[in-house]
Amino acid sequence: MGITYKQLTKECIICGFNKVVGLHHIDENRKNNNSNNLIGLCPNHHQMYHNYRYREEITNLLRNRGYKIELNKDLLRPV
Ligand SMILES: [Zn+2]
Ligand SMILES: [Zn+2]
Repeated sequence: MGITYKQLTKECIICGFNKVVGLHHIDENRKNNNSNNLIGLCPNHHQMYHNYRYREEITNLLRNRGYKIELNKDLLRPV
């Protein structure tokens, strides 16, 4: 077994907030629960990531931290 749910939700990988941490699916596919597809994000950063206005900013922050993220251009547009 890879990284556990508990480890993934230990803290937000962007800001380190560790009280409330949710799981985000990097490829936006909720069925892909592979540990390299999951990151822990605090409510603020999680919401920002799902807001097309901040998506690119958050993606860049994650890339700076060494995460390989393919930015789905379709997700950059408002729904
Ligand atoms: Zn955060
Ligand atoms: Zn998410």
